[in-house]
Amino acid sequence: MTSRYPAPPARRLRVYAFDPQTASRLGSVDYAYATISLPWEQAWEDKLQPGPVNEYVEVIDVDPASGQFYDPVDLNNSYLLAQDGLTPSEGNPQFHQQMVFAVAMKIIRIFERALGRKVIWAPHWNRQRREYEPVDKLRIYPHALREANAYYSMEKRALLFGYFRSTNASAGASWIFTALSHDIVAHETTHAVLDGLHRRYAEATSVDSLAFHEAFADIVALMSHFTLSEAVSAHIQQKGGSLDEASLLSGLAEQFARGTVGRESLRQYVGHKPEPELLAVTTECHDRGAILVAAVFDAFLTIYKARTDDLLRIGNVTRGDGKRLNTDLVARLTREAVKSADHVLRMCIRALDYLPPVDVRFGEFLRAIITADNDLVPDDPHNYRIAFAEAFRARGILVEDCLSMSPDNLLWESPEQMFGKNPLEIDDLDDIDLDLEAHYTRAKILESSESNRARVWEWLSTPDPDNVSVDLDWERALGLYFMFREKTPRSIFSSDGYPSVEVHSVRTTRRAGPDGQDLRQLVIEVTQRRRAYFDPGEQDKADVGKGPPAKEHDFIFRGGATLIIDLRDSKLRYAIRKCVDDDERLDEQRKLLSNPEGFGFTYQPESGEREPFAMIHRGH
Ligand SMILES: [Zn+2]
Repeated sequence: MTSRYPAPPARRLRVYAFDPQTASRLGSVDYAYATISLPWEQAWEDKLQPGPVNEYVEVIDVDPASGQFYDPVDLNNSYLLAQDGLTPSEGNPQFHQQMVFAVAMKIIRIFERALGRKVIWAPHWNRQRREYEPVDKLRIYPHALREANAYYSMEKRALLFGYFRSTNASAGASWIFTALSHDIVAHETTHAVLDGLHRRYAEATSVDSLAFHEAFADIVALMSHFTLSEAVSAHIQQKGGSLDEASLLSGLAEQFARGTVGRESLRQYVGHKPEPELLAVTTECHDRGAILVAAVFDAFLTIYKARTDDLLRIGNVTRGDGKRLNTDLVARLTREAVKSADHVLRMCIRALDYLPPVDVRFGEFLRAIITADNDLVPDDPHNYRIAFAEAFRARGILVEDCLSMSPDNLLWESPEQMFGKNPLEIDDLDDIDLDLEAHYTRAKILESSESNRARVWEWLSTPDPDNVSVDLDWERALGLYFMFREKTPRSIFSSDGYPSVEVHSVRTTRRAGPDGQDLRQLVIEVTQRRRAYFDPGEQDKADVGKGPPAKEHDFIFRGGATLIIDLRDSKLRYAIRKCVDDDERLDEQRKLLSNPEGFGFTYQPESGEREPFAMIHRGH
């Protein structure tokens, strides 16, 4: 449809800022609603269809428990366009569709802005054809289950939201819909985006790795609340400029928590004094994740305080003394809080490109935050990086192999520091002949990244017999093997007599810094699989490889590296790796998986359980 009028810049949609219960209480009704403003679809994007269905998501409203199919909402209806969508309502399934759509799209846009590229979903494994198929749209089911659960389904590549009858009178509603909790929709959408970026993070490799998925999803959900200025402003007015009390947080997902399922466990330490010894003795994945969430929240508070101390002095106000603040001052403090939350969110999301492709640890997340920020914003006048380093240290999140916890020491090493030289030559990149054009449609981006992936794989898997030293340099840089030599563990999976490698993704990013820097990077993730055994003797036999292994492997151990290449000079900046021959790490994973009390068994894909996120959200 062409129109003689220009398209509006944004599509505005009303949602609950927290959940329906916040809207039903006098104390919080003033900030119970929010309006999400999404960029209007571009000319090259799919038009928004009833559902809603767009380029990224497809809301499908079938309710298997009642056998009902609810009519899809048409957000292009002129009555709805004129009033920012449907009015928030628990009783209207079309509003539920609008709410999951608006919040999911808001989170997707937050990621795109921070990462400098489009969000792509994790591919789907087709069991019959034994190959990965690209997933165009993430499906969202607002009424998928009649139970107190909501999760990102890896099997279906979908978000499933449940609803349930409240067993607790204080929840104030007879039915509770997880699709109407801003927090839960944001959390589940983040799981899906993170899975698209790092497919192997859902595997149980260490106590940190699964805790990370949960914690990250919660960090995004939590911080995105602080970008809703109505709620932040009401809170600042009530608390005299202070944000460090848990009262604003208490509104988050409260209704859900009061129902039956305690999702609040991920926020149990937020706003509490840090205990540096706690992390070392915490092994349960939600408890561990809660420490990471609290560390990021502490960094946010420090940043907010640093940005507002002068304002409070100008206003002659002592923080938190309960006096009523001037409304202009509240507006300025709110703006600073929203900005601080936005910075923290961006720093955390940008760090995702600077993480190893497998077995992520909390300390590595900190190093990734610091390095990614340093690359984009070399100058740090507000000391954001120190705020992060301090907050993590205070929560006991330490970094091995670093001289100190100062931001300079936390930067990832350059290849020169690691190996004495840079293994990547400019010619190498030319040889691969990658498509580095900027594409705008997601279909084209998918196609181009698939072809780039195939090219990098081809290049890595073709040994160069005339130039063995180049291959050796690359093996070292990646912590993987391309050839079977004397010391190569024979337990590495092979194809055609060579150790096989998987190229997970080849992504180009383009980010603009505050001083107009134009950072263009190529991020490549390469991994390798090794057969692993619970019995170390069995492992030795498989590694030496004299004769066939006595039995099928017990689990899979992975190594891999993330390569960050600066496209401005085609130089390798970082090789963030996890060596495939790291037997100490293998032993850690072995201990984790062989302990039935640990969470490990739940997540092993080999066990047939393909829904790790359903397990950790249900009834915990
Ligand atoms: Zn989760």
